[in-house]
Amino acid sequence: MISDIRVCASWQEHHDGPVYTLASTCPVCGSDAVNSAPAPYDPTDRYGEYRRALKRRAHE
Ligand SMILES: [Zn+2]
Repeated sequence: MISDIRVCASWQEHHDGPVYTLASTCPVCGSDAVNSAPAPYDPTDRYGEYRRALKRRAHE
């Protein structure tokens, strides 16, 4: 699910905790707000499958 919720990009410097917003900037400190959802699978990551294979092998 794609989330529109953003989080203050520099909340670790300016706030005690993450500041969430729907705007493109933090309403508290004015810093850029970035999408809070971590990037899902990156289709351009050609080494992803290789890394996952290594990880699977490590568990065997
Ligand atoms: Zn902020």
